[in-house]
Amino acid sequence: MNIDQYKQILTKYWGFTSFKPLQEEIIKSVAEGRDTLGLMPTGGGKSVTFQVPALATEGTCLVITPLIALMKEQVNRLNNQEIRSIAIHSGLSREEIDVALENCIYGDYKFLYISPERISTQIFQAKIIRLNVSIVVIDEAHCISQWGYDFRPSYLRIAALRDFLSEKVPFLALTATATPQVIDDIMNRLTFREKNVLRTSFNRKNISYLVRKVEGKSSYLVKTLKKVRGSGIIYVRSRKRCKEVAELLVENRINADFYHAGLTDELRDKKQASWSAGETRVIVATNAFGMGIDKADVRFVIHWDTPDSIENYFQESGRAGRDNKPAYAVLLYSPVDKKKLSDTVYKKFPPVEKIKDTYEALCNYLQVPYGSGKDNVFDFNMSEFISRYRLPVIETFNSLSFLQREGYVEFTEEINNPSRVHFIVNRDDLYKFQVANESFDGFIKLLLRSYTGMFSDFVAINEDTLSRKSAITRDTVYQFLVKLSAMNIIRYIPGKKTALVIFTEERLVRKALMISPENYLHVREKYIHRLNRMIDYADSETRCRSVLLLDYFGEESDRCGICDVCRKRNELDLSKYEFDLILDEIKARLSENNPDSEALVKMITYPEDKVIRVLRWLLDHNKIVRDKDHRLTWRS
Ligand SMILES: [Zn+2]
Repeated sequence: MNIDQYKQILTKYWGFTSFKPLQEEIIKSVAEGRDTLGLMPTGGGKSVTFQVPALATEGTCLVITPLIALMKEQVNRLNNQEIRSIAIHSGLSREEIDVALENCIYGDYKFLYISPERISTQIFQAKIIRLNVSIVVIDEAHCISQWGYDFRPSYLRIAALRDFLSEKVPFLALTATATPQVIDDIMNRLTFREKNVLRTSFNRKNISYLVRKVEGKSSYLVKTLKKVRGSGIIYVRSRKRCKEVAELLVENRINADFYHAGLTDELRDKKQASWSAGETRVIVATNAFGMGIDKADVRFVIHWDTPDSIENYFQESGRAGRDNKPAYAVLLYSPVDKKKLSDTVYKKFPPVEKIKDTYEALCNYLQVPYGSGKDNVFDFNMSEFISRYRLPVIETFNSLSFLQREGYVEFTEEINNPSRVHFIVNRDDLYKFQVANESFDGFIKLLLRSYTGMFSDFVAINEDTLSRKSAITRDTVYQFLVKLSAMNIIRYIPGKKTALVIFTEERLVRKALMISPENYLHVREKYIHRLNRMIDYADSETRCRSVLLLDYFGEESDRCGICDVCRKRNELDLSKYEFDLILDEIKARLSENNPDSEALVKMITYPEDKVIRVLRWLLDHNKIVRDKDHRLTWRS
């Protein structure tokens, strides 16, 4: 295959005639059979990098991702393009998974999406040997690293898949953000045959990064939004604040709406669509707002609260200016924010005994006896669990995430599963049944008329649609389905919307429950480190914001010239080179002794007016302090 053939595939299925930067390199690398780590910024067209080579290759491409909603969306899209695809996640019954995998083996499926906690199950491992796998894609690959911000132990079992596959099958790991340490970790843990990272620069040259130190965020926001044009996102931490800020804006005649995970799916879709279409100008949202946004002309992203890591800040602010036109990323930062951020450490890391209490409460709630429960999947209603045992919300949520980190349980996001029907008799037997049971005849015909494929697989159905088509009530439709299921004509799985908890280990007695230092103390250390880097970003008054962000991801760059720090420096009318030379010399002198301003200026070997400008700037930005005797000290 040469690159023109890949381009033909791109044009045929996506309608584009050329690849975006990096897509082509990743595709070539995978096509050569090399293990590849692709660092693609959000919105960089990640799915093309594996879907194009997979379409050009025999066999099934295995895609591992923890995001079930995304998985379902992609599978739908592929199937609509007549590319046979299937998703396996914990929201499916054992029987459905079995049928899906059998179909995959015999049915020439091009894509098999699977959630990570499913790959180490016996049923999957028994079938994968018989599957002709072309590529293994690991999405959200940073989840494999304990140093990352979203570690999932089930990712550690991905490397073991190599035992079940031909050794020629390449692994393609994809992530949007990773520090140098996490990049190495990903390649090690996936046992890459050679190191191979492909990335573009993270530098977003059209974004002006600004930190605004304001006490009154509300008035700042209203004033700014009246001044600037275009649409944008305002991120806030709490759902309550989210609504309040939106109301504040509306009161001030700014076209705004709010969005958070507590709203119904329909309402969220509606709000997002209205914002994407430009009908709503400003959306005030929690970090639940993000997936599936492909609006290019976002002119500003404003953070009301400071995120707890640069990874999060970079991803969220990076939704601005995808059209490469000038855009703003603004962080509102007040003195109390720093204290609030430090306090999150206590909430994030409940005492180990509390974590154990939560484990026991969870096991009791789900009625899991000691020594059993492995691989069991339960519906999980977090708010009901919390209210039944009168648990503190945030502490419990974080305790559960430590239990996941330690590998005892795994949680999924809320899954919206439609009802499914599968005929378990063949057509002849069904006909005999219809003749013998006349009262079911009409309903079965309705079912067969409305959906196809039900003899070979579970098919999603909708009780409301069936009710409308037949003029029988929804409840009657439901009764028909339940009865047919009881009579072993169909399997019927009613739809539901729920989050799940999966036991990855047997239930342990309290004494045997371990919360290891790697998963607690070290994680806390790393968390504090990330937090401090974020605080440094907000606090810094001397280093270019863009340089600070890129440095975090291990990338060197020149100062951007358009962030708030650079803008202030531009006013000095000095080149970066001159500024840095003078700054270095001042710093060196002040490390030796503490002269006053006049004496200091004389010590420096550069033109006096330039030295004074740099000195004044350093004083303004608290890099240098002056004591009561006018003597200067460099603040480290
Ligand atoms: Zn800058």
